[in-house]
Amino acid sequence: MTTYRNPDENGYYGEFGGAFVPEMLYPNVEELQQNYIKIIESEEFKKELNDLLKDYVGRATPLYLAKNLSEKYGTNVYLKREDLNHTGAHKINNALGQVLLAKKLGKKRIIAETGAGQHGVATATACALMNLECIVYMGEVDIARQAPNVARMKMLGAKVVPATSGSKTLKDAVNEALRDWINNATTTHYIIGSVVGPHPFPDLVARFQSVISEEIKWQLKEKIGRENPDYVIACVGGGSNAAGTFYHFVDEPSVKIIAAEAGGFGVSSGKSAATTFLGTTGVLHGSKSIVMQTNDGQVIEPHSISAGLDYPGIGPFHANLFKNNRAEFFSINDDEALESAFELTRLEGIIPALESSHALHVLKKKNFQKDDVVVICLSGRGDKDMETYLKKLETENL
Ligand SMILES: *Cc1c(COP(=O)(O)O)cnc(C)c1O
Repeated sequence: MTTYRNPDENGYYGEFGGAFVPEMLYPNVEELQQNYIKIIESEEFKKELNDLLKDYVGRATPLYLAKNLSEKYGTNVYLKREDLNHTGAHKINNALGQVLLAKKLGKKRIIAETGAGQHGVATATACALMNLECIVYMGEVDIARQAPNVARMKMLGAKVVPATSGSKTLKDAVNEALRDWINNATTTHYIIGSVVGPHPFPDLVARFQSVISEEIKWQLKEKIGRENPDYVIACVGGGSNAAGTFYHFVDEPSVKIIAAEAGGFGVSSGKSAATTFLGTTGVLHGSKSIVMQTNDGQVIEPHSISAGLDYPGIGPFHANLFKNNRAEFFSINDDEALESAFELTRLEGIIPALESSHALHVLKKKNFQKDDVVVICLSGRGDKDMETYLKKLETENL
């Protein structure tokens, strides 16, 4: 039986996935491919990780029935509160899992790439906890734009290394991290921050994030007597919070799946990150997926108001959902995300991350029925976005 949840043994979700890596990286990737399931599915590993998720991260995160939002949209809206995790987003679920895996593989050194700095902070946090050396590659431009997260990483003891080539942003940081990994293969584990990269990273990250939908199932059972909602909704940058939210529901035909991509200034504006609307099949960062690229295969610079969605591809898991119409994709523009951030704040007293606000805006794009149970992943909190929010407050006198 084919499933949407699991890739085949070569890491393919339908036609997407695989491991397109330079020969010098192959030993690292192969070591992971051969060991990851055995290690992370062992009882010892699961217990260690679950204890940390519970007492360190603060899981299970609440599944909150947002009454005011529900009333406004005439349906039942539940928010999965990943914003309440330690470090403020879902990324810590993956970072902790991978640092623990690296320890089991005998690695002493951790490298990561980061764009906005959220994945860098989560990785630096897990490394501080488990006493591992941590190096975070970050584009020079991003270092200047994301000073608070750079400070956090440094305080946590990580070394932040600027990537100075190309556009000096996320994709250049990925290239630097891969170069480091080739040179330090035996000592180092590379922690990718989303469901992207060569096999087994997409599956590895999806498994660590699947705790989100695992909890939604028992929490719904407790609250409404059934495990499956009618809809699950999440934003997609690379797609890790979405993969975690969809994981236990993709093979349940009764559950409808909705993904929100960053439309930026609009899909036809030339400043967008809506990959499924603008992309074509291609290889990016080691796997075959849907990529925003020119006719001759050059990656097109994406744009989104939220740094976490500012990525020119999506993970192969999501490319497969798109290709088979298993998920419905919406493109949500910058101003629409901002509108929904303020709406949630004023209606429920919760300041969401700009990324999560793209998922919230689906409430305005789609009609839900009175009896529908709609679960939206609130992937992170809005502290990091206060500067953007303040600007809107001041210019529009809100
Ligand atoms: C990084 C980030 C995202 C986007 O990453 P995914 O891998 O697509 O989940 C979304 N929300 C928040 C709060 C983030 O920090």
